[in-house]
Amino acid sequence: VMAGGNATFNPEPMADFIDFFVIGEGEDVVLEIVQAYREVRRADRETQLRRMAQIPGVYVPRFYAPRYYAEDGTLSGIEPLVDEAAPFITKRIVPLLPPPVTRFILPHTDVVFNRASVEIQRGCTRGCRFCHAGMVFRPVRERSLAELLETIDAIVRETGHEEIGLLSLSSSDYTQIAPLVKAIAEKYDPRTLSISLPSLRIESFSAELADMLAGGRKTGFTFAPEAATDRLREVINKPIPTQSLLETAEEVYRRGWQLIKLYFMIGQPTETDEDVRAIARLAKEVYRIGKKHHGRRAKVRIGVSTFVPKPHTPFQWASLCPLDEIARKQLLLREELGGARGILYNWNNPEESLLEAVLSRGDRRLGAVIRGAWERGAKFDAWGDQFRPQAWWDAFAAEGLDPAWYAHRPRLADEVFPWDHIGAGVEKRWLLMDWYASQRGEVKVDCRNHCYHCGILTAFKGIRANTPPQAWQCPPVRNPRWQQLAEAGEIIGLTPVVRENMKRARVPEV
Ligand code: SF4
Repeated sequence: VMAGGNATFNPEPMADFIDFFVIGEGEDVVLEIVQAYREVRRADRETQLRRMAQIPGVYVPRFYAPRYYAEDGTLSGIEPLVDEAAPFITKRIVPLLPPPVTRFILPHTDVVFNRASVEIQRGCTRGCRFCHAGMVFRPVRERSLAELLETIDAIVRETGHEEIGLLSLSSSDYTQIAPLVKAIAEKYDPRTLSISLPSLRIESFSAELADMLAGGRKTGFTFAPEAATDRLREVINKPIPTQSLLETAEEVYRRGWQLIKLYFMIGQPTETDEDVRAIARLAKEVYRIGKKHHGRRAKVRIGVSTFVPKPHTPFQWASLCPLDEIARKQLLLREELGGARGILYNWNNPEESLLEAVLSRGDRRLGAVIRGAWERGAKFDAWGDQFRPQAWWDAFAAEGLDPAWYAHRPRLADEVFPWDHIGAGVEKRWLLMDWYASQRGEVKVDCRNHCYHCGILTAFKGIRANTPPQAWQCPPVRNPRWQQLAEAGEIIGLTPVVRENMKRARVPEV
């Protein structure tokens, strides 16, 4: 049984159930896994897993033993038990994005998300401190404009999909976004092919981009300011001045949208009641602008989730806000909104956030809890109507573990985390410095303009030395020793697969 994807950057809670985890991007490593499996397919499971453990980026949990301090139950370390198990597993990345999929398996019936997806770039350089994806998907690699246009053509031709989602963590940051949108708008009629562009930044230009793609269909425009005051947005490193947000709202309503959706989080580090009240004030202000353009047809929908600290982020040392505090803040916001006409307010169940917080930063002891909850009927918990919190709390009690200890306990700077032997490329030391910077309200601008040496170039210097300067948003490796070694093929040579990808992605080899 193998697993991969974002959640496996802390694999420990699922260690009892999974034979091996693949950390990071799968495109190259999956071929190595198939090759290794062919070599050992007739061997016993132990031999097979020892072979898998030798593949960089593969983590076989049974070959590691966690040790805990008796006094407080925190980890003292995780030790490899066999020679094949590396003490530290660095995630895998592909030097360049491989050619996108154009021939999808087509369902016979209508399905949720019935559209083709094309990844326009991977990674994000904005550095929002709560964002797991922003930290673990570094470095930023883009697909070329020519490749994307060819891909969209091929998808339309091969599949007949009428909807294509252009995916990325921050679409506005794709350097060719304006020419891409213009080319699509010129070529396709929005009535026959609808293109969605999620994760747009809060700036007037986003309204212009979306307008080019929308045709007549302007259902709703979504932004995620995450916090409602300039101060708190600086703490979380998502510095958008309130004034720009209001100007963007004005532009969106002016261009014909009647509904703006705004996403916020409550319970973020340093948050005060004033920050919570500001969500209501901002929503009312946006509604006032909408009313100017559309009268009573204008709408604002605010989705308010609870901040859950995630591993491998600067906020991994933060605590989850206590549940009674979350409930109080949700109520405070509802009172502050005062049933304002035209503003819809959604919030989430604090118990779901507690469970998410526990599993996000949990250790291997949670395996018994997961099993116990399942035996008590917990299944499909992410569906609100299926969520059975009591099954979980009973399972915790049966194992003598306290969910509050996992979720609300303040972490010390030098605490060993259950995921410390898993490397996302960004160094723990750097994350800690950024955690302290957040408490001082210090903003780190987009790292494409200023590299903060987060650790990516140290972890992947060999790969970087072999990729053209323009292929990543990180600076090129300038160390002449690395470059000489790379040229001599002593770090990693450009494999035929990479060469082929570079050719297809139209990135010239330097
Ligand atoms: S190495 Fe520099 S440019 Fe690259 S992701 Fe880290 S901070 Fe950003």
